[in-house]
Amino acid sequence: MGIFKSNKKDRDYTIIIGCGRLGTDLADILSDSGGNVMIIDKDKDAFRKISPSYGGFSLIGDATDIDVLHEAQIKNATAVVCVTNNDNTNIMVAQMAKELFKVEQVIARLYDPERECVYREFGIATICPAVLSAYEIRKQLGNVEKEDDSE
Ligand code: AMP
Repeated sequence: MGIFKSNKKDRDYTIIIGCGRLGTDLADILSDSGGNVMIIDKDKDAFRKISPSYGGFSLIGDATDIDVLHEAQIKNATAVVCVTNNDNTNIMVAQMAKELFKVEQVIARLYDPERECVYREFGIATICPAVLSAYEIRKQLGNVEKEDDSE
């Protein structure tokens, strides 16, 4: 399978794990901006959400299965973004990407902020919707500036 498109950045290859609401948006945005993108989901119906203009690849499979990651050519990936709806799956795939395949940049969504330290230990960047939302709400309430002033 040829991953890279001739008229696109040929060093850049992002694999997105989980074709849900966030994964779909990311795949569309990265693909539209000229990146080489692969999106993986274990549910074939999940791909219906991708926009018709999506120019990347898609693969049906459980991303915790190493054969699926090989099939996605993870060894060529410059970034892996784990955004399934399961923290355990995200941490497992993120660890495989980082440790086994030495992927440069690995980012994982994490529902449970208390587990962030586990990811940090492995050098995996995390995005935690609860923490981001709380910060944004505080900002909109004018609470962040107040706190910053008192420091
Ligand atoms: P959402 O909750 O909308 O962000 O969607 C999460 C997506 O992750 C769903 O489409 C799931 O089918 C997908 N997903 C969950 N576990 C796995 C897995 N092990 N491998 C691939 N995709 C997964």
